[in-house]
This record gives sequence, C-alpha cells and structure tokens, in this order.
Amino acid sequence: MPDTTLPNSWDARAKGTSFFGFTDLPSIRDRGAIVLTHGQGSHVYDTDGNRYLDGNSGLWNMVAGFDHPGLTKAAQDQYARFPGYHAFFGRMADTTVQLSETLVDLSPYDDGRVFYTNSGSEANDTMVKMLWLLHAAEGNPNKRKVITRTNAYHGVTAVSASMTGKPYNAVFGLPLPGFLHLTCPHYWREGRDGESEADFLARLVDELEAMIALEGVDTIAGFFAEPVMGAGGVIPPVDGYFDAMLPVLRRHGIPVVSDEVICGFGRTGNVWGCEEYGFVPDAIVASKAMTAGYFPMGAVILGDELADRLQRATDAIEEFPHGFTASGHPVGCAVALKAAEVILTGPDPLIDRVRALTPRFQQGLKDLADHPHIGEWRGVGLMGALEAVKDKATKTPWDGHLSVSERIANTCTDHGLICRPLGQAIVLCPTFVMTDAEMDEMFTKLKAALDQVFDGLTA
Ligand SMILES: *Cc1c(COP(=O)(O)O)cnc(C)c1O
Repeated sequence: MPDTTLPNSWDARAKGTSFFGFTDLPSIRDRGAIVLTHGQGSHVYDTDGNRYLDGNSGLWNMVAGFDHPGLTKAAQDQYARFPGYHAFFGRMADTTVQLSETLVDLSPYDDGRVFYTNSGSEANDTMVKMLWLLHAAEGNPNKRKVITRTNAYHGVTAVSASMTGKPYNAVFGLPLPGFLHLTCPHYWREGRDGESEADFLARLVDELEAMIALEGVDTIAGFFAEPVMGAGGVIPPVDGYFDAMLPVLRRHGIPVVSDEVICGFGRTGNVWGCEEYGFVPDAIVASKAMTAGYFPMGAVILGDELADRLQRATDAIEEFPHGFTASGHPVGCAVALKAAEVILTGPDPLIDRVRALTPRFQQGLKDLADHPHIGEWRGVGLMGALEAVKDKATKTPWDGHLSVSERIANTCTDHGLICRPLGQAIVLCPTFVMTDAEMDEMFTKLKAALDQVFDGLTA
C-alpha cells in the first residue's frame, strides 16, 4: 500500500494535482492512489515496484495485454509516416479509409458507412445527432426521444450520460428531458416473487409497448442497447430478450442501435455482441477494444438503410455539420487496423483464445458462486460478475455503508489482483492473452479476498 504520509510520494502528487474519475474517494484517502509505470502481458506495475494481475484489462479495453509489440509498432510506423490529420473538408488520411473498409467488412452490413470519434461517449452522442438530423430531414422533427434501459452505460457526455440509466447522474441534473429508461432486463434482480422468466420477459415487452403508446411513436428517435450490459454490472439479458423486443421496435419503425463499446471486437467470443443474440441492429457503436486500448478512438458504423437516409438528409443541406478535430486520426486508425488483425482476422487471432478461455473463466465464476455470500454469478464470453449478498435465499444486499464490493476489490489489490467493484458486484473482464495459470491465480486471489472480507463482516 503506498505511504500516504510522504509529501512527495506519487500518491500525494497524484491526489494533489489530478482528479480521478469514478473513484471511491474514502478508499484513496485511506489507502492512497496507485500510480502505474508499465505493464507486461496481463500485469501492470506501480511506482513501488508492486505487480498486479489486471482482471479488468485496464478498463475493458487492453485486451491484447500491456506490451503487444505489433500494436506499438503499428503506431510507431504511422507516427513516422503521417502523425496526424483530420477528416473535415473532404480530406482524410489513407489509413482512415482503410480502417473504414475493414470495419464495414467486419460489420453485418454490405454498404455500411463509418464516422469516427475519440471515445464511446462521443460515438453515442454522434449517433443521437445523426438520428435527430435524419428524422427532421424526413419531416419528423419531433422524433427526438431516446429509449435505453435502467443500469445501461452509454457514456458521460451530457447526451450519453442521459442515455446511461444510473442514479448518480442526478447530481448533474441529468438525464435531460426526453431520455427514457425501460426496466433493466436482469431476471435475478428485477423478476418479481413467483414470476417466471417468460412472464418477466412478457412484462418487459408490455412495458415497451406501453411506453411507445404513451409517448407517441412520432416522438421517438431510437432505441439503444448493449447486448450484454457492461458497466451496469455485466448483465446478460433475460432469455429471448432481443427476439421479443426487436419486433416491437421494428413494427414501429424505431431504429435499433447496438452499443458494442464493450461487447464488440471479441469480448463475447463473437466479433459483435449482437451475434451472440442473433440480431442485426441498424447501427453499431464501437470503441474500447477497437484499438485494444492503445489509442483513444470510437466509431459509429451505420447499416445500409441508415447510411442512405443520413446521406439524403445531409445532401439536402449540403453538409453534415459535425466532427471532432481528431476524428479518424491516422495513428488511431493504424492501431485499430492492427487490432482487427490481432484480435479477429490474422493468424492465431485472439478471439480463438477468448473462446478457448471462456469455459475456464465461467467455471471459475460458478465455483465462487457456491459461496454463501455470493448471490449470483453471470457472464458471457470473457466478461463476468459475482454479486455479493448478505442473505443468499432472500437476495438481500449488504448495507450500503459497508461498501462490500470496495472492500473486496481493495483486498484483492493487497493480494496483487485488480478487479472492479460495481454496486455490490465484483466485475472481471480479463485480457484475451491471459494464460490458464494466470486465470487460476485470479480466482484463487479473489476467493481469498472474498473469504477475508465476508469472515470479517460476519465475525
Ligand atoms: C465505456 C462505454 C461507453 C463510453 O465510452 P468512453 O470511451 O468512456 O466515452 C459507452 N458505451 C459503453 C457500453 C461503454 O462500456
């Protein structure tokens, strides 16, 4: 644990000069911040020389590990040749064009079109603006409301935070008006006493129908969903969810956007998470693993129909008045091209490793779910969570002031494992390069932390 009393420690310097996002401030006050220097494979190292197995791939994104030579070389080569350009005024780097071709090839679309951003939040904002613009151009200026789900995570900009279905956004006075949230499709937590999974699903579909009827279909711009909710706590939807919800949306002509920022690029064992559930959305939002975390980048990939409609809408005003200075940055594009090869299309692609590791990962979660204070394990591919409960039979959570999941994550850190507390769950999303032995070590360390924390709480 870093020494918080040393005035010139990295901890003191970090806390004195920088804000941390989404950080439990009491934890860093008591324990100090961790300042990192480098990484190797699935491990990272701090300024005190401590080594941590990162069970969260950085923030879901460093899927190829922290020292992939091909990815750094792709960046270095591009920096040497053409270190930066924009995608405005009809100019664009050749590398950017190549990445668009690759993304469309990887997408479920024949004639898809790509727009670049620097992050997932900006990609969701961009998608919403595209829908607003095209609906207005088609004579439907009132089609502006956006439907998402409670517990969804779509980002932090004013629009994407409004789409995010988390109570913490109330401190910002968000969501903005017109951002609607359906029930989270988490049967274990949201299912009512005696309600079957099928009945729960039927209730969610009825809720969607009622929302559309109440708000008026002529006011709704689109529906956004993560195939598996990530930052909501790794929540795969109730069985049959997309099969049941999508026909309702289609019948009303409401565009469906798959937020693939976490699921995309291999995390579920598919290129896109929507493949896991057998649906083809009207557009895809990508980021995170798209560059294996080696460059900040996001993208909207429009399917054929929305691409045509946006083209017509922008033709009418002779411009699409939107873009970021670094949209389509050639270094990011070079890295993403390499990441696509490393993860998906090259020799020995990492997605094969995702599929090979998944049974070991899920067995590890299942085994820990036998613990008397773990209420549920859940997950798809290499994303998973364990939900801590005070009482397993009644699914009663621990008192919030105990900060159970923070205690577990902090104890893991003491044992050299990084994992993430989310509500009362612990989230794991290992890199795609983790070895079998490292995965076993991850679960051994997590089990020791669970025993230590729960023994302390129940003593
Ligand atoms: C992380 C995330 C975002 C936001 O991406 P940023 O790059 O942090 O802005 C959006 N959607 C999902 C599903 C995410 O997990």
